[in-house]
Amino acid sequence: MLGREIRSVSFGEGPVAVLLWSQMHGDESTATMAIADIFRFLAEGEKDGLRERLRKNLTVVFVPMLNPDGAELFQRENAAGIDINRDARRLVTPEARALKELRDKLQPRFGFNLHDQGARTRAGTSGPQAAIALLAPPFNDSRGYNDVRSRARLVAATIAQALGREIPGRIAKYDDSFNPRAFGDLMQQWGTSTVLIESGALPGDPQKQRLRALHVGAILIALDAIATGEYADADEAAYEALPYNTSGASDLLILGGQLVLPKQAPVAADVAINYDDPVARTGGRVRDVGDLQGSIAMDTVNAAGLFLHPQAVLLADGDRGMLLKIGGAAEIDLRRGASQASELVRRVRANGGGREP
Ligand SMILES: [Zn+2]
Repeated sequence: MLGREIRSVSFGEGPVAVLLWSQMHGDESTATMAIADIFRFLAEGEKDGLRERLRKNLTVVFVPMLNPDGAELFQRENAAGIDINRDARRLVTPEARALKELRDKLQPRFGFNLHDQGARTRAGTSGPQAAIALLAPPFNDSRGYNDVRSRARLVAATIAQALGREIPGRIAKYDDSFNPRAFGDLMQQWGTSTVLIESGALPGDPQKQRLRALHVGAILIALDAIATGEYADADEAAYEALPYNTSGASDLLILGGQLVLPKQAPVAADVAINYDDPVARTGGRVRDVGDLQGSIAMDTVNAAGLFLHPQAVLLADGDRGMLLKIGGAAEIDLRRGASQASELVRRVRANGGGREP
């Protein structure tokens, strides 16, 4: 929209066309980094089996960073504030039109729609943080399977099988409600077997560099399976059996403790904390205090029998005494007793990750 170039890069001279696009949401850059790694791998020019198979059998067209204006602001939408992934039907944005025109020209048999998802997403309602979510999007409301979607499901199953060995339990299946404005769904309708790959987050991977590497693996494994035709032998159950992506959790829940405010009797109170940056787990703030039993969190600290001592930064000095600030920095000491002098068991810190003492 602002005149920045959107580039496509192609590799191979084979009969099967594959189209990959990343960062149509400007703040979702993991797959763009992964594509840069793949460019380097492909351009190193070494002749090995994998690169030769891809070159001979496929014409792979990459569009890294479909939304360069949004990427400048690191915002989801384009320069007009339009979500390009809700513009596949109307096609008013130049970015969406570019992708559609490229699809129509290339007529790719396979497509990869590459995104990032929120870090507060679990694989299933009680599973670990989802590192990767996959979807073979539906092509209409009935959510049935024709040849096009079935092929996409087999490719997704190929990825699930391969990555399952690296990150067991951390691969989820994205909700498959049909969205008539979204590119994944309409690509499927237009005849391109399309797989959505969402990068989530992994513990101890604040810059998503391990996820970036996993993403490289996922794409190369999928491309190779398409090049050899081996994707057709994948077990679709490897996709169907994935737990659903489940969002809406808090980052950290301190459960079962007694909250101690200066000069007050302790009260039974759970504390929910969210990080400003949930991937790096920095900027923790208290979002909720009270009876939070049964609420969902990415991590839970069992504070049964312990006393929660909010630090000064989390307190406001009022006329009648100290108040706990909702939204304040999550700095809380967990002690054996109500006294400040009692044994310290664990420190929860706004930038401490909150995982271990
Ligand atoms: Zn996205």
